[in-house]
Amino acid sequence: MRYVFLGAPGAGKGTHAKKLAQKLGIPQISTGEIFRANLASGTELGKKAESYMKSGALVPDEIVINMVEKRFGESDAQKGFILDGFPRTIAQAKALDAMLEKKGWKIDCALDIYIPIEDAVARISNRRTCRKCAAIFNLCFADIRPKKEGVCDKCGGELYQRDDEKEATVRHRMDVYAAQTAPLIEYYKNKGLLKTVQTSNKLSADQTFELIQKTLGVK
Ligand code: AMP
Repeated sequence: MRYVFLGAPGAGKGTHAKKLAQKLGIPQISTGEIFRANLASGTELGKKAESYMKSGALVPDEIVINMVEKRFGESDAQKGFILDGFPRTIAQAKALDAMLEKKGWKIDCALDIYIPIEDAVARISNRRTCRKCAAIFNLCFADIRPKKEGVCDKCGGELYQRDDEKEATVRHRMDVYAAQTAPLIEYYKNKGLLKTVQTSNKLSADQTFELIQKTLGVK
């Protein structure tokens, strides 16, 4: 299966993409995670992306597109994937179409995870990420709250708040999403590939995951 996960920052794309990818035995390809890993290990790619990421802006299309094309060449991507955080602009979506065509691949579904903006802002400012294994927790939800404050349940690593999860940056990211990424909903709708799931802070992460599986027809 090949899925694209769409949704505003805070919609839970990363959490659900990771869980579903594990269940299906395919990789979750998160461009944000690849950038963060490059930033942490000080690569040229990380240095190029750093200033954009810190301000909540998008990294230039060309850099992201080259990175995804390389990732598609790795062996685990041949059997399918969930794209999480890519594409984020119409130019990226068109480049993705061209890459897929070259490979003879097709997207099965673009899933839009819709969340009201005010719920998303509350979620993001309560999100914590593990420095070591990139696991994501949220103080807003009992079922994904870390058992011990500041410590990763999975590997014992330190939990931190990403720079781009501070409130002013979050507001900027919401504006960037509305202007540059939201048009992708129409783009995939026109291709007949769009499905939508509505979430909110009234639903637990497990309830939203159930909805996602039902919508995608995953057993
Ligand atoms: P994310 O973890 O998906 O929220 O991504 C974190 C940051 O990485 C974003 O705010 C952007 O600065 C950058 N980024 C991730 N994916 C993309 C993309 N497809 N296009 C441009 N920038 C991206």
